[in-house]
Amino acid sequence: MESRIERIKKQLHGASYKLTPQREATVLVLLENEEDHLSAEDVFLLVKEKAPEIGLATVYRTLELLTELKIVDKINFGDGVSRYDLRQEGASRFHHHLICIECGKVAEIQEDLLGDVEKIVESRYGFTVKDHWLTFHGVCQSCKSSGNESKK
Ligand SMILES: [Zn+2]
Ligand SMILES: [Zn+2]
Repeated sequence: MESRIERIKKQLHGASYKLTPQREATVLVLLENEEDHLSAEDVFLLVKEKAPEIGLATVYRTLELLTELKIVDKINFGDGVSRYDLRQEGASRFHHHLICIECGKVAEIQEDLLGDVEKIVESRYGFTVKDHWLTFHGVCQSCKSSGNESKK
């Protein structure tokens, strides 16, 4: 984790930003909760534990900056809440999500399954793809095995 924060620090420096203690606390929270999809308020509450003097506006600005630098992606799963999701290092595309319609769990697929789809889009529509977001809606394995699925 140490080296990852160092690399994020370099990314910030490369864009002429400093990794201030407030920014560092925000990045650490994102790294520690990498599996989660935290809203700005969620991040703020966790950052406050490390840096009690920090304000929501500062956390919010940091998240916007990290989004701009493509260190995180801002996503919305249709509930109207913006969530912040760390992008895998060196990934040119955003990871895919599986959302369970029964329990609400969000899982991630880090492998990119859309390479061929992008080729079709490029050749058939003359469109150069830079990124994509893919969210699958369905029933997760644990809901299936606990039989929740049959109730609906
Ligand atoms: Zn994610
Ligand atoms: Zn489920």
